[in-house]
Amino acid sequence: MKEEEAKKRIEELRNRINYHNYRYYILADPEISDEKYDELYRELVSLEEQFPQLITPDSPTQKVGGEPLKEFKSVRHELPMLSLDNTYNFDEIREFDRRIKELLGVNEDIEYTVEPKIDGVAVRVVYEKGVLKLGATRGNGIVGDDITENIKTIKRLPLKLLDATIDIDVRGEVFMDRNTFLELNEIREESGEKPFANPRNAAAGSLKLLDPKEVAKRNLDLFIHSVSRQIFPDISTHFDTLKRLRKLGLPVIENNALATGINEVIDAINSWDKLREEQRYMTDGMVIKVNRLDFHDKLGNTAKAPRWAIAYKFKAKQARTELKDVIFQVGRTGIVTPVAILKPVFLAGSTISRTTLHNMDEIKRLGIKIGDTVVVEKGGDVIPKIVGYESSYRKGNEKEILPPKICPVCESKLVKLPDEVAIRCININCPAQIKRRIEHFAERNAMDIRGLGEELISKLVDTGFVKDIASIYTLKPEELMSIERMGKKSSENLIAAIEKSKDRDYFRVLYALGIRYVGINTAKILAKKYRNIDELAEAKSDDLASIEGVGPKIAESITDFFNTARNRDLIEKLKNFGVRMESEKMESGPKPLKGLKIVVTGSLKNYSRQEIKDLIESMGGHSTESVSKATDYVIVGENPGSKYEKALKLNIKTISEEEFEKLIGKN
Ligand SMILES: [Zn+2]
Repeated sequence: MKEEEAKKRIEELRNRINYHNYRYYILADPEISDEKYDELYRELVSLEEQFPQLITPDSPTQKVGGEPLKEFKSVRHELPMLSLDNTYNFDEIREFDRRIKELLGVNEDIEYTVEPKIDGVAVRVVYEKGVLKLGATRGNGIVGDDITENIKTIKRLPLKLLDATIDIDVRGEVFMDRNTFLELNEIREESGEKPFANPRNAAAGSLKLLDPKEVAKRNLDLFIHSVSRQIFPDISTHFDTLKRLRKLGLPVIENNALATGINEVIDAINSWDKLREEQRYMTDGMVIKVNRLDFHDKLGNTAKAPRWAIAYKFKAKQARTELKDVIFQVGRTGIVTPVAILKPVFLAGSTISRTTLHNMDEIKRLGIKIGDTVVVEKGGDVIPKIVGYESSYRKGNEKEILPPKICPVCESKLVKLPDEVAIRCININCPAQIKRRIEHFAERNAMDIRGLGEELISKLVDTGFVKDIASIYTLKPEELMSIERMGKKSSENLIAAIEKSKDRDYFRVLYALGIRYVGINTAKILAKKYRNIDELAEAKSDDLASIEGVGPKIAESITDFFNTARNRDLIEKLKNFGVRMESEKMESGPKPLKGLKIVVTGSLKNYSRQEIKDLIESMGGHSTESVSKATDYVIVGENPGSKYEKALKLNIKTISEEEFEKLIGKN
């Protein structure tokens, strides 16, 4: 191909990829399959390799991260990045409303927008002629860091807007979603690094990395929630501004609502408080903004914050209880974790009787002792945690928490590597590790063997009926029935669940194997790249390391896994039992949902959000986030959200979970 011709084709490919990114990331409504998309992308990469002089910074291939930096440059913000005033109760919100009306001199109800307040890191993003030019942190509001290279790695943030003439300066919040956060922390704990305290710290820590390739692996995400300065002459409200930003291809804050009058604002806050735990991102409050832009101008700013907006912060829910003991648990990879045993306490909907303390450093940091009255918090955080203790309650007989020297289960000597915070049991036959490996194998995201829980696994290993993962598949009903409290019916059910697990998706099997650092997302990436386990087993470390989202550390762990005879043995056995070790059975299967656009709202009985989405996709349907006229069905679970109301309004067919299962021929 000649350069002229290549240039034209490259241009065309970039436009198509940008458009499909918009369909996928912003509208959550893809038009083409992942395979087709990959094809376009690979063609672009290969053309750019042939003609490197044609690579431009706004090419979609430039999202993977450039060269490491020595330090961040400083950026002076043209307009200061103000923060918001916080409120903590509804009286303060009513007061805000009164003040607004007074300043504006109006009596009628004010129209507000109510948006989730994302618990992340504030950033500014600048596009010139539709091309991403700058990403910056807020810093002190006047001067921040230039993090353009890092922010480019965020998949949902386009390098080029759909309007190539526009100059725009927008603001948003970079965050890490719950699953990514949990997975990152699991990996950090496994490799002896300190886990992040919460997703916000994880996002902030990731943005501070100087190597954009490392940042790319962190899977950050972002929501845009405002413009630095109004630039759309035809738009008169904040709500419409957001709509316009979305049309430009930007990942705009979702679940924002319009409310007329302060009572509707409070209703919106209350209904979000019920839904926020279901979201993939963490919110620590709501942001309330006056909707009319001419009112913004009239109201202006104080030195620190705009007068037309305010944040309402959800309270972190705390309780005090006694720390009765600290026990040490041995994990799947031998890491010994301290676990706090608490006098049971009811907090925000559930009873808490134990919680992880992560490692000895954390205990030292908290300064807690056995017998202390500790403060347990369940805030925007994923798991309840101990945040401190009441020093005034100390009696003097509290006990120091000491690190164990021997494994609490197999009694072999524990080791602590010099650069790690974790303590490990390195006895590979440690029964605790075997139990944890089997628990991991059976868990919901892995093989989903219902009925094979912690307690039963423990008994099966202790009695010797189960020695390793593979021996689950040779369990006999009479063996199960000999276990205390296992009746005929439950034994049969369990055998059926074990049998059913053989047909789990290949990527779930990969995850279930418990290869170090291979979480469910990595397993998906691997299953897509290597269609069966033999291909993966033979993959070279370098090839693995070059896959986006894998990298050298995971690559090494994978090759180590397959180089271990015991693991190869396990895989052979599982294969012989008929466990699926290759991708895509569904592809040739029936596609009863072909071409249908389906939205889910509320919680379902049999599926998590991700599971139902995967199921819809595997049956040929499109799982989309928002209800529009193009939606074919809305599956309505318990406590449905605003999507349900919208479906009724637009006359979209709503179906129950059971009706959905009928639709796909499951019942
Ligand atoms: Zn041990």
